[in-house]
Amino acid sequence: MSDLIVIGGGLAGSEAAYQAAKRGISVAIYEMRPARQTEAHKTGLLGELVCSNSLRSESLSNGHGLLKRELSTAGSLVMEAAMASQIPGGSALAVDRERFAAYITGRLTMHPLITIIRSELDCVPDGVCILATGPLTSPALSGWLMDTLGAGHLYFYDAIAPIIDATSIDYEKVFFASRYGKGGDDYLNCPMNEREYGIFYDALVEADKVMARDFEDERVFEGCMPLEAMALRGRDTIRFGPLKPVGLRDPRTGKEPFAVVQLRPENEDKTAFNMVGFQTRLRQPGQKMVFGLIPGLEKAEFLRYGSVHRNTFIDSPKVLNDDLTLKINRKADGMKNGSENGSEYEMQVGKTSGNIYVAGQLSGVEGYLESTAMGLLAGIYASRRLRGLPLVTPSENTCHGALVRYITTGKSGSFQPSNINFGILPPLEKNIRDKAKKKLAMAERALRQWEMFVERAD
Ligand SMILES: Cc1cc2nc3c(=O)[nH]c(=O)nc-3n(C[C@H](O)[C@H](O)[C@H](O)COP(=O)(O)OP(=O)(O)OC[C@H]3O[C@@H](n4cnc5c(N)ncnc54)[C@H](O)[C@@H]3O)c2cc1C
Repeated sequence: MSDLIVIGGGLAGSEAAYQAAKRGISVAIYEMRPARQTEAHKTGLLGELVCSNSLRSESLSNGHGLLKRELSTAGSLVMEAAMASQIPGGSALAVDRERFAAYITGRLTMHPLITIIRSELDCVPDGVCILATGPLTSPALSGWLMDTLGAGHLYFYDAIAPIIDATSIDYEKVFFASRYGKGGDDYLNCPMNEREYGIFYDALVEADKVMARDFEDERVFEGCMPLEAMALRGRDTIRFGPLKPVGLRDPRTGKEPFAVVQLRPENEDKTAFNMVGFQTRLRQPGQKMVFGLIPGLEKAEFLRYGSVHRNTFIDSPKVLNDDLTLKINRKADGMKNGSENGSEYEMQVGKTSGNIYVAGQLSGVEGYLESTAMGLLAGIYASRRLRGLPLVTPSENTCHGALVRYITTGKSGSFQPSNINFGILPPLEKNIRDKAKKKLAMAERALRQWEMFVERAD
């Protein structure tokens, strides 16, 4: 009988198992492939990359570059595999996907403390467990999660709007205001006249789109419809939707604009803005071109591009503790049958840790490296707990810490997953105007504090 059960042998589960085993914990990994495939995986290998073979930028002035450095410093298996399978990729770290996954599978298979069980689980077993079944979690286990957390706390689609670096906005052309003056000057508004709207609209409907995959049923997107799909319903439809100008008066003209794009601050420090209602399937160069036609956003730098795709993830601000455990506890025996949903678990009051850790894309982060990062932390946290050691957590100034803060303190109900970007890292105590120097200073701060965490997290 293993000390720790990891469900899902993807990027997060593989990293979590490896980190725990490295710390002397015996681990059983349950992986349903190859007997049962997801809609995107093709092999039985652990750590399979389902789409791109790029692990993104190497530069420290990029969130992915910095996150990779943190992972390497902590002895990540995924980074070790990436180095062993690297192929030329310009300024990005590209890997040979077969060699990458074969390396991970080999290392885990050979590890004396790790057992790999090729079987699907339809519920979480007793004991300390890391749930890392990813964006395509099997229907049976998704059903268990819905029963356990409540249907409103598990999502099946991402509808992600782009996020823009605040310093790249032209503030001469935009204005702060809330609709009808309600709620302070919370939104940044980009006003358009009729001509500007016409040019924007034509570019939007003509731009190149990412096609839905076979398993991504377009009909499910009604509730989170991509902007360009809504635009196709009529020339004015989005002017009565996300671009509606009512209740907003441009202080420079004293009039209501023809259309308005609203930007909502992503954080208290207003270092990044979310484009409200701009979830989109446009390809990234298309987003840059079309959204660059919006007054004030001509030189916008995208910290995150918009997307719409199939993704299973939990409402982590509501159901996840900052040690990555679910806020649920097993019910006392006598209460099981009388419960509302028949589940054996109930939401937990307070913040004490349950037995179930969640890692990877399911926890509300987005991307290969981000999923790996949550796996690394969950593996460390669970293994320390099993050895009776106190919890140690990384500073929020590190990429790992900032991701955990993002998923556990976001807005429940309207929570959207995030990748790593400088916009989710806390600002420097003393601002630096030069952007490149600022990012470098933030990266240095992150790495200093990450090293302190790694030293303590053995
Ligand atoms: C179609 C698609 C394309 C993507 N493309 C990219 C991309 O190009 N770049 C990027 O950065 N991110 C991409 N992502 C997002 C995400 O980063 C990856 O999906 C990543 O693999 C997530 O890591 P994970 O460990 O959380 O999940 P996964 O790597 O998917 O691992 C989960 C594992 O759990 C297993 N599993 C599921 N249910 C069960 C069960 N009940 N019992 C046992 N095992 C189970 C699965 O077989 C799988 O091996 C994509 C996602 C999808 C869905």
